[in-house]
Amino acid sequence: MRSPHPLSRRHFCLCCVGAATYAATGGWVTPREAFAEARGIVSLIKDSAATSAIVTHKLRNNISVFEGSGGNIAILTGSDGKLLIDAGIGVSRPQITKALAELGAEPVTHLVNTHWHFDHADGNDWLHSVGAKIIAQENTRKHLSTVQRVEDWDYNFLPSPRGAIPSETFKTERGLKLNGSSIRLKHYGPAHTDGDISVTFSEANILHVGDTYWNGIYPFIDYSTGGSINGMITASDANLAVARNDTIIIPGHGRPVSNKAELREFRDMLAAIRDNVARLKKPGKSRDETVAAKPTADFDAKWGQFVIDPGYFTRLVYQGV
Ligand SMILES: [Zn+2]
Repeated sequence: MRSPHPLSRRHFCLCCVGAATYAATGGWVTPREAFAEARGIVSLIKDSAATSAIVTHKLRNNISVFEGSGGNIAILTGSDGKLLIDAGIGVSRPQITKALAELGAEPVTHLVNTHWHFDHADGNDWLHSVGAKIIAQENTRKHLSTVQRVEDWDYNFLPSPRGAIPSETFKTERGLKLNGSSIRLKHYGPAHTDGDISVTFSEANILHVGDTYWNGIYPFIDYSTGGSINGMITASDANLAVARNDTIIIPGHGRPVSNKAELREFRDMLAAIRDNVARLKKPGKSRDETVAAKPTADFDAKWGQFVIDPGYFTRLVYQGV
């Protein structure tokens, strides 16, 4: 079966490999095959990113977003140098370098990581090598500095190279002033991981919300490093509280240019499925019985067409209710 979702294989990313059912051939595989694939999944993702094109979406003021290397990457350009929000996957360096050059000749001077995941921070090392100072929430630095085991991916990540470790961290909030933009970095508290931050570009009215929001697809939630379904909902509420009707919202994954109405729909989907799963778990249904009861059924046609499929998403929610 091929995914009917409009998102193509170039969106394949580490956050999605929990399902581990989407093979290099572009087809779905059996669980047994998926298990065999899991060992080489990082190579698989790198291979995929290495050949994927980068698509540039110009937003407004001097801000754009790159789609095609892991999570959605925001770029602020100007005479102070370029600021990137997330780094994508390292092997995309040639395509990202070209796409950056098309936005202007100034060097990359700053990089912010929305969280520690590979598909958002793997490019840290090369971006640092060309001059980027890396800024992140302190838990992101901690996760990038030490071995991380992600249970749902059955994978141990080694510590990042020295240059890839954020050199500046903050606990709750940090402001930046670059290229005429006021930029605010704000920690959500535990959400998709324990280090997620939002990035607000005040004058342009643009909000990058990292992996607290997956536009049009069920999200991955990383319980191994502090994420939870309730944390995701709390983060969505925080995003809705600061967004205005004309705010451009950049999600971590999915269609890269979104808005408050679509975000509200995502939040309501999370809350409804959380409640459905809790109603099944509370009287004692097992995880498999809960999956079999299809608590996501009302939402699957819209949200369940990507690699975090309905069963997998139900299991993630079940873990947190
Ligand atoms: Zn992530």
